[in-house]
Amino acid sequence: MTPALTYLFTFIAGASIGSFLNVCISRWPLELSVVSPRSRCPKCEREIRWYENVPLVSWLALRARCRGCDLPISAAYPIVELLVALGWVAAALAYGPTFTALRVAVFGTVLLGIAVTDAQHYLIPDGFTVFGFVWVLATAVVGFVLHETAPFAAPYDALIGACAGAGAIAIVGWLGEVALKREAMGFGDVTLMAVVGGALGPGRALLTVFVGALLGAIAFLGVVYPIAWIRSRRRGVPFEPPLVPFGVFLAPAALLTLLWGERAIGWYLALL
Ligand SMILES: [Zn+2]
Repeated sequence: MTPALTYLFTFIAGASIGSFLNVCISRWPLELSVVSPRSRCPKCEREIRWYENVPLVSWLALRARCRGCDLPISAAYPIVELLVALGWVAAALAYGPTFTALRVAVFGTVLLGIAVTDAQHYLIPDGFTVFGFVWVLATAVVGFVLHETAPFAAPYDALIGACAGAGAIAIVGWLGEVALKREAMGFGDVTLMAVVGGALGPGRALLTVFVGALLGAIAFLGVVYPIAWIRSRRRGVPFEPPLVPFGVFLAPAALLTLLWGERAIGWYLALL
């Protein structure tokens, strides 16, 4: 198979996985099955035919509207499909046709699902974290057998990392709750960090919490807080700082740390 054809197939596979990810994103927060029933329009309940469900293509062909009731179809669906497709191609470009490329692609896909559901619903469904946990531990063993470990943690480090990640975020949440006098973190963040620690190992799991807090602080102080303040002034209501789900920042932080964390730690140690 020519390289161009390989990447085309990778793109199509990624877009299809992204399409399934959309089903998980919309159903798991409502505790619905992702297997059945078939997808329906949320407004007119019209069943979506297979040819209306082709990733990316159908959204464009339908001009972002339901054929039954003309309800606009959110651009979030094709954006998720495109992100996953591009992510899978990027993994194949960076790691070649390897088991490692598949691990990076699946890990990134799970993190995207977690970030989107946490942003939309303030929760991290067990579907993502239970699958992710089993996936990272099982593939740590398979990768070890195949002599393909980096950039992921080896099996023993994966186990210690899962505990360190979950423990670190639980401690941060506990202290945050004491300091802010309100719930600062959900249990979903603990399960997310168990998955992240299992993938990255203990050192980079701690770095992920740090990077996630940094990303969160930048977004919160630079964007969310000022917008909320201006809005409350305009409406003349008392200002209350908005809640920002931490998983939205932990998920991209985990991917950044997986890909560049080792280099950042080396750079920092050289600086000392
Ligand atoms: Zn409809």
